[in-house]
Amino acid sequence: MHILVLNAGSSSLKWQLIAMPSGEVLTKGLAERIGEPGKGKIHFGDEIFEGSLPSHVEALKKLKDYLNRHSEWEVNAVGHRVVHGGNEFVEPVRITDRVKLKIKSLFGLAPLHNPPNLSGIAAAEKFFPGTPQVAVFDTAFHQSIPQSEHRYAIPEVFYKQGIRQYGFHGISHSYIAKKVAEITGRTSLKIISLHLGNGASATAVADGKSVAHSMGFGPLPGLIMGTRSGDVDPSVLLYWMEQGMTAGEISRVLNKESGLSALAGSNDMREVERLYETGDKNAVLAVEMYVKRIKKYIGAFTALMNGLDVLVFTAGVGEHSMLIRKKVCENSDYTGLFLDEEKNKNPERFKGIIHAERSRVQIMVIPTDEEREIASQTYDVLTKTG
Ligand code: ADP
Repeated sequence: MHILVLNAGSSSLKWQLIAMPSGEVLTKGLAERIGEPGKGKIHFGDEIFEGSLPSHVEALKKLKDYLNRHSEWEVNAVGHRVVHGGNEFVEPVRITDRVKLKIKSLFGLAPLHNPPNLSGIAAAEKFFPGTPQVAVFDTAFHQSIPQSEHRYAIPEVFYKQGIRQYGFHGISHSYIAKKVAEITGRTSLKIISLHLGNGASATAVADGKSVAHSMGFGPLPGLIMGTRSGDVDPSVLLYWMEQGMTAGEISRVLNKESGLSALAGSNDMREVERLYETGDKNAVLAVEMYVKRIKKYIGAFTALMNGLDVLVFTAGVGEHSMLIRKKVCENSDYTGLFLDEEKNKNPERFKGIIHAERSRVQIMVIPTDEEREIASQTYDVLTKTG
């Protein structure tokens, strides 16, 4: 089955055509700057289109024309990444009119993500009529987090309105949990998955299920990110509001002007590390804060799970930053966590397994593959329900 995986952002559309169940990627590409007159760009494998892309519909039309020129790339199903599934969606679902209405009803909870996700679905229905479509939700993996953990200690009336932790990066954390099970041959494990990309989050996974997570109602809390603040006392927001800042201004500060960018002047960990090596004070502080925040979550999640078997690093920083992995694992003998410094320098040579022999906790570097996970969940939905 050839599954076209679509990930529609506000001004971008990423895709991969994946043969399942083998997982072979047949072709992949990216449309950028959708909605900016004359600035659109699409990469189809080696081909490039430049011109206007008024909406996701035009981008997908061009993709469809490209696929039509390659008869071997027939599309049998489409799998969509949908960021917010609210309380309704605990697993991926085949898209129907009812599902689309639900995704729309969640616009308020994910105003930046669900609208383009729904546009991607509408465009795919137009160009691939009759082809089954599946929605795979970023929040769904975290629906197993118990109420004692996902609820905020605020009046129940708000909980009933949907104010609770939802969690994000679920497609990535779910992929990591399955990979760890595959590598170790065990599902009964206590795992902490650290997804450290531009956005960053930590998830505690016990027996294959998410039981605690660092993001919340939205994707702001938890770890320090490229431009997002991570945890901030809500009193700061109240203070800002009393000072006259608008919701839009506060959102801009916390989402776009904070994190590594605010501390070290760059949201790119490669640049922060370069500055760190020169002894730049701001970069040294940024790295120290970034690492401490991760350590706090490791400690908290280890306590909640009453132990830790596997610590996983994934996404851009997790997969590539030897420095961050080293510092996160330093002085952690209380959990029995010991990194092998040589293996940490070149994880690929050691199949991503980088702990020292005496370590009670296994430490792994696993490249995440959200597209593959979407294809795999789409395949499961369609083959289970026929
Ligand atoms: P996204 O969250 O946008 O999907 P990624 O998972 O690709 O992004 O992570 C992007 C981040 O990974 C970059 O901003 C950069 O900080 C970091 N990164 C990528 N390569 C390296 C590297 N070699 N060393 C340190 N950090 C890196």
